[in-house]
Amino acid sequence: MVRRRRWLEKPEPRKIVCMIEKGVRRKGFQRALGLAGYAWAAPYSALGLVFGLVAVLFGARMRVRRGALEVGGGWLGAAAARRCSYTAMTLGHVILGIDEATLDRVRAHEQVHVRQYERWGPLFLPAYFLSSLLQFARGKRPYRDNHFERQAYAQTADGATQGERPTRARQRT
Ligand SMILES: [Zn+2]
Repeated sequence: MVRRRRWLEKPEPRKIVCMIEKGVRRKGFQRALGLAGYAWAAPYSALGLVFGLVAVLFGARMRVRRGALEVGGGWLGAAAARRCSYTAMTLGHVILGIDEATLDRVRAHEQVHVRQYERWGPLFLPAYFLSSLLQFARGKRPYRDNHFERQAYAQTADGATQGERPTRARQRT
């Protein structure tokens, strides 16, 4: 009985303190990494914010989902849906879409692009277009065979159809 109490009292509190310290350190590290990702992608986020604010002036709505600002709907969204092969586009931590339903549908795919912006920072768009150019030079599809798009489609559960509309429209970045 005495031995058992010692076993319960001695190592456990130290272990718990150690686990809490590790957890706090890990959380602090993840938070610092997250902030660094926002800072690294900030030039593109700023550009996305400008486009987003213009869209809001034409009736689009903003909302925050999974750490990104989503902007959808309004007159520009409707015009883009009618005239462009465009459903959604990610710029840093800003995701611009033709409407809110589309943003819901393509969120997983666009979130992969958000992570790519966090990893590549200002180098992301040059790397993206270089990848498209290389695929085009090889006789492949510049959009679907692009390294970053393949990664985004592979990481989304319904990658085969994510963002693709049955008509002429298709998703960009
Ligand atoms: Zn994409």
